[in-house]
Amino acid sequence: MTLPRKHLFELPDGVIYLDGNSLGPLPKGAMARAQTTIEAEWGGELIRAWNSADWISLPTRVGDRIGALIGAPAGTVTTGDTLSIKVYQALAAALKMRPDRKVILSDAGNFPTDLYMAQGLIDTIGKDYELRLVSHDEMCEAVTDEVAAVLLTHVDYRSGEMYSMEGMTAVAQDHGAVMIWDLAHSAGAVQVEMARTGAEFAVGCTYKYLNGGPGAPAFIYVRPDLIGHVEPALAGWMGHDAPFAMDPTYSPAMSIERMRVGTPPIVQLSILDAALDVWDGVRMADIRAASVDMSELFIAEVEARCPQLTLASPADLAERGSQVSFAFEHGYAAMQALIDRGVIGDFRPPDIMRFGFTPLYLGREDVLRAADIIEEVIGKELWREEKYQTRSRVT
Ligand SMILES: *Cc1c(COP(=O)(O)O)cnc(C)c1O
Repeated sequence: MTLPRKHLFELPDGVIYLDGNSLGPLPKGAMARAQTTIEAEWGGELIRAWNSADWISLPTRVGDRIGALIGAPAGTVTTGDTLSIKVYQALAAALKMRPDRKVILSDAGNFPTDLYMAQGLIDTIGKDYELRLVSHDEMCEAVTDEVAAVLLTHVDYRSGEMYSMEGMTAVAQDHGAVMIWDLAHSAGAVQVEMARTGAEFAVGCTYKYLNGGPGAPAFIYVRPDLIGHVEPALAGWMGHDAPFAMDPTYSPAMSIERMRVGTPPIVQLSILDAALDVWDGVRMADIRAASVDMSELFIAEVEARCPQLTLASPADLAERGSQVSFAFEHGYAAMQALIDRGVIGDFRPPDIMRFGFTPLYLGREDVLRAADIIEEVIGKELWREEKYQTRSRVT
């Protein structure tokens, strides 16, 4: 089933876009909104727009809309900065909540920036802290009473392997650890119920499945009962209880706004706000069902036609997010050959070809067409051409 939303996106002819897990396409409404924000609001209203266009509350208004997609109640999500910053904020706040514990536990395969930010935080606060990394399969056992915070990406960026959010949160909390979920590959992709899960924090970006555009601001969720207590390590003025009192002493807002830092990126936030319109009336259960259907079809077709490729995602659909990865020794060149033929996915080292499935604008017919092209590129070894061998800076 194709959800009848494709017309809401600007997609070039002849492209089958299987990279919405990395950078979502342009929603048509975003262009009009950017124009309004720039021309009428910035151009016409000038500084008055902070009030007249209510720019000042845009981070939390957009946060509430994202909250609706991840099962988080109003007033628990705000937006701004980048995901790397939000990871740092959540981790720093979590460590303050467990001052007697010195271990941050994460997945050795986690997205590098999550690990770098954890290491950077540790280097700043003191060497008696430790970042402990184990594999997905060892995670439950690795949660001990030494662990202050468990930082995990719900859906692995390379393999698409998905943690059981409820199960893992329960294990962390049973041992007294604070649970932080990175929803970079979950928000807008799979069903997430933050409120029911009970995890303390979640963070995510909005330029992947939420189609907010390159550099779109990140989001952070804090469990409602903690919002008035978490200590914001990045104590910026926009998180102050009364930013325009210009008080020389910091006192955090008693709302989720305490997780704001500085002046919000209004143009990008407006674009994101408009991009979120494509979700109006969409049920995440339907998105998930359509994504699973396309992923299963894709795996069956590619495995049948291309024995050279090895499935690098879980075969069990319940353990997989909304992407399918195949390992192939010549994966980089093969992906360049596919992109040249309109099938846009991406490559992650050492040998992973990634394909994302986004039911808002893809259907079974796209999957079958993509499989035809993959079969041709792999079967005829079209990737051998010289021009596909040179690596660009962004893969
Ligand atoms: C995409 C992604 C990021 C990117 O972080 P930015 O600060 O937005 O560049 C971080 N973590 C995970 C798990 C990701 O998938």
